[in-house]
Amino acid sequence: MRLKQLEMALQRLSGFEKPRPSLEQYQTPSPLAARLLYHALMKGDIRGKTVCDLGSGTGVLAIGASLLGAAPVKGIEIDTGAIEIARRNTALLGADVEYIIADVRDATLPNQLGAFDTVIMNPPFGAQNVHADRPFIDCALAMAPVTYGIFNAGSAQFIEAYTKGRADISEKIAGALPIKRTFSFHTKDMQEIEVVILRLVTKR
Ligand code: SAH
Repeated sequence: MRLKQLEMALQRLSGFEKPRPSLEQYQTPSPLAARLLYHALMKGDIRGKTVCDLGSGTGVLAIGASLLGAAPVKGIEIDTGAIEIARRNTALLGADVEYIIADVRDATLPNQLGAFDTVIMNPPFGAQNVHADRPFIDCALAMAPVTYGIFNAGSAQFIEAYTKGRADISEKIAGALPIKRTFSFHTKDMQEIEVVILRLVTKR
């Protein structure tokens, strides 16, 4: 599957019905999701690999990984409503993803789930709850040697400091995240946030 085909397939997926601000529920737009996944594919981190999507939401990253040949693919998500949509989305595109209801803040999760080759995630940026991204990073580094995450570009430096000694940032890919007016505290109809896709390699 080519990049453009992947993007078009992911474009068909349904988003959150009632996004919950406290959980920072934003669906990754398909061009950005496809970009992360295709980059990971080219690095050899997807095809034939075991992949875990932390905070899988409506499933866009997990489903894309499955379409590109990752297996098994698991999606971890705290919100059961999101998992229902993700399951429908998975069936729509004929992907194969197992969704598990769990809280990424549960420190025993990496032990419960076992090891994966690759973690993919678009964690909360911490806009509503300060440092909400930290448990995602901790969980990812404990579970897999390689993690791809989408972060607010402004916080790349903090991520680097936070993971120092535990992981190396091997790639930084700049991107943009168009955010439609979703929550009442948004003041503009459309806002663009600069983001960065980081590839983190866990130190052993
Ligand atoms: N991965 C999806 C969703 C990103 S939004 C996509 O790329 O489109 C972040 C997701 O993390 C939301 O679905 C939210 O419900 C979930 N989430 C937030 N806090 C969580 C936690 N503590 N444990 C598990 N999932 C969580």
